[in-house]
Amino acid sequence: MVWFASANPSVAFRCNICGTRNRLMPGLISREAGECAGCGSTVRMRSVIRCLSLALYGRSVRLTDLAVDRSIRGAGLSDWDGYAARLASLFTYANTFHHAEPRLDITDPPANSFGTVDFLISSDVFEHVAPPVERAFTGAFNLLKPGGTLVFTVPYGKDGETIEHFPSLNDFEVLEFGPDWYLINRRTDGEYEVFDDIVFHGGVGQTLEMRVFCQTDVVSQLQRSGFEKIVIHRENDPAVGIIHRQDWSLPITAVKPGRPPVRKPRYRGKWRAAGSFIAQRRDTAAAPIGARPHGPLTSRVAV
Ligand SMILES: [Zn+2]
Repeated sequence: MVWFASANPSVAFRCNICGTRNRLMPGLISREAGECAGCGSTVRMRSVIRCLSLALYGRSVRLTDLAVDRSIRGAGLSDWDGYAARLASLFTYANTFHHAEPRLDITDPPANSFGTVDFLISSDVFEHVAPPVERAFTGAFNLLKPGGTLVFTVPYGKDGETIEHFPSLNDFEVLEFGPDWYLINRRTDGEYEVFDDIVFHGGVGQTLEMRVFCQTDVVSQLQRSGFEKIVIHRENDPAVGIIHRQDWSLPITAVKPGRPPVRKPRYRGKWRAAGSFIAQRRDTAAAPIGARPHGPLTSRVAV
């Protein structure tokens, strides 16, 4: 028998945010890459939406296949616009911000927001929250309804401990001085600290990195806040362009104790019935890498 090497080793997937069909070389797919040609989503963003779908419906459904369901309430913490707009069109969802309207300080959410959302998305935010970060985990827990799910990502390492860059942070300013940036902190005991090795995300002078998490600390913070069913999503889902190249910084879901409603996705368009059947097939038959680039299982779902 003669085996021929595949002439096209690219990964074919259909974005679970915008529905665009893509082909990418496997080497271009990583947590912060593998951009969708339609919406620019990365693996991390598609993972967030996949985790959300699993939380709501127990299966992976593309946002473009869903009908509007305002009974589902959710919130995001500085969510990426690419999925925030789509979530707002499907659910009763609000994206919130620390420094802009609509404001939400996750370390101190208002009491009237407690127990109000079925899902909360926090993607690469908690590494920027001022210490002690425990308050943010508690805030997330408090916002959720019983049975509600936190969809959570942060960069984290597999080993060691969480590294707090500014454990005594109190009254501080970040200052640009010549070519360099400094953080000056006045501790609660009145002493001053100056840090010159500060790290920004999103460009110099943008969002300050407060810590580098480790996995065990993330899980234990979630547990201490009261969450259960904490799942680290290591699984790939090539059909929607999710291939994890590393075993760290993977997306996590955590549930507030309580009984969540049993939901079935409401599909949109004339293919609603077919979409239900197709989605079930898709759940149980994830396409291997490079297989079924435009296969019949997904091609008839409404767009
Ligand atoms: Zn897309």
